[in-house]
Amino acid sequence: MATVEPRPRPEGAGDDPGSPALVVHDPRTGAEIGRVPDQGADAVAAAVAAARVAFGPWGSLPFAARAERLLVVRDRMLDRIDEMTATIVAETGKVAEEALVHEIAIVADTIGYYARHGEKALRPQRARTGMLVHKQGMRLHQPRGVIGVISPWNYPFMLAMSPVVTALAAGSTVVLKPSEVTPLTGLLLGELFRSDVAGEAGGPGDPMAGAVQVVTGAGPTGEALVRSGVDLVCFTGSTATGRRVMAAAADSLTPVLLELGGKDPMIVCADADIHRAAAGAVWGAFQNAGQACVSVERVYVEQAVYDDFVDHVVEETRALRQGGSPGADVGAITFPPQLEVVERHLVDAQAKGARVLTGGRRVPGRAGQWFEPTVLVDVDHDMVVMRDETFGPVLPIMAVRDVEEAVALANDSEYGLAASVWTADGAKAAELARRVQAGQVCVNDVATAFGVADLPLGGVKRSGIGRLHGLQALRDLSAEKSVLVDRLGLARELWWYPLPKLLAPLTRAGLVLRYRRGLVAKLAGLRRRSRPL
Ligand code: NDP
Repeated sequence: MATVEPRPRPEGAGDDPGSPALVVHDPRTGAEIGRVPDQGADAVAAAVAAARVAFGPWGSLPFAARAERLLVVRDRMLDRIDEMTATIVAETGKVAEEALVHEIAIVADTIGYYARHGEKALRPQRARTGMLVHKQGMRLHQPRGVIGVISPWNYPFMLAMSPVVTALAAGSTVVLKPSEVTPLTGLLLGELFRSDVAGEAGGPGDPMAGAVQVVTGAGPTGEALVRSGVDLVCFTGSTATGRRVMAAAADSLTPVLLELGGKDPMIVCADADIHRAAAGAVWGAFQNAGQACVSVERVYVEQAVYDDFVDHVVEETRALRQGGSPGADVGAITFPPQLEVVERHLVDAQAKGARVLTGGRRVPGRAGQWFEPTVLVDVDHDMVVMRDETFGPVLPIMAVRDVEEAVALANDSEYGLAASVWTADGAKAAELARRVQAGQVCVNDVATAFGVADLPLGGVKRSGIGRLHGLQALRDLSAEKSVLVDRLGLARELWWYPLPKLLAPLTRAGLVLRYRRGLVAKLAGLRRRSRPL
């Protein structure tokens, strides 16, 4: 589903599940498909308290026992795969293939990755102790406590599960606030971690019981979670909301991990496989109806192949099937205000000279929220569509003189989430991947790096702070602790009281001998010079 109508809340409603305040609709038809409570700060506080109680047993489990329970969660997800897919599709309006490939498959792989490789990332690590040769240093990665996860509507399952699974693997428990647009997926997600049966993972008495709490509600519920005293907030959403989250978290110095918006560029060099690049651009721009943080938001094509590239893109785009039935390629617009954003960007671009080659309007005569896949040319950086996140099925293409101009334009953005470069020359690809300012770069591919569990995901510039995915994310969601152990047991250290008279001269000599580079050569030179001729 997709649209939400926050209804006027009756007195005392909200936290009472019997008085739902959020109504959810299917974006493909506009039909109501569910109601959930709009929970407030009290419900958030109760969820955080419950997650804190659950942290005791969950945080003390050895990694292998946590991993085994996450694998049970994956089994449950696969046992309910049709229900999961149907809920995601009904709530977002995406096509079933996208729910399966971009959401459920990525989650299945991520759980396997952390279950298999997580333990070594969290193992205590030896630290070098430098001059302190009689000490032993260790770095520990301990569970943090309760982690607040706030997720968006565009991939409501995968973008919620990814931080939830990472936090649990690292030994923390979680309170999840799904987007008010897609709360049913969030609630279903919560069920995967629970059981009514004693002896089962998440059942009464099991250490996973209560480890994942889900609170439904709108922005204020998210803010209440940020202010609730959780030990870290993992937020995925727009840059504007990310700023508000960081500001709210600053009051209590709650650490934040922010996965934010993007304006992802695609650079097509003259030597690229133009057929593949055009097919990649069309899929990259229109998958999930363009509502992907790593979708292709702007394309820069070397002049020599521009016409050829545009022709192929238009042909591929016109061949797309859009709709809510099996066999469709492109789904609906999940979030109603997004239609207005897309239209505003197109109006601005056309007023400044851009041309629509195909698409450019809401699908006429169809109920629900639909926008035609749109190809736009004659664009430049004075247009909003080349600067702000459109987050819809719009593919603006710009001709550039050469690769230098393409890189300069790609980097002319406040965002830096993902990018793609297309060329047959491996060395050029490596150079471009290095120079484009982005957290992820695909070469002769697009967006796919997002689905690789071992490749860290996150942005530079205003696209975010911190990384999900990869083993580093497990450590980042843990609390790192340094431990130093004395190995000699002397009566006192040299630098303790009373300060020995020899401490200063010995330290001075020691520093020079140990660290002054070239000292040996210098002394040898002095000796040579003092020898009689
Ligand atoms: P929003 O920023 O609008 O919302 C994200 C989440 O934050 C929702 O759960 C929302 O609740 C909640 N929220 C709203 N206000 C507050 C607040 N003041 N304090 C705390 N939480 C709040 O993003 P969208 O849901 O519209 O998602 C689209 C955006 O997400 C795009 O910009 C996209 O690029 C980005 N994104 C980034 C990704 C990445 O990995 N970097 C991945 C996917 C998307 P509610 O919905 O109920 O208002």
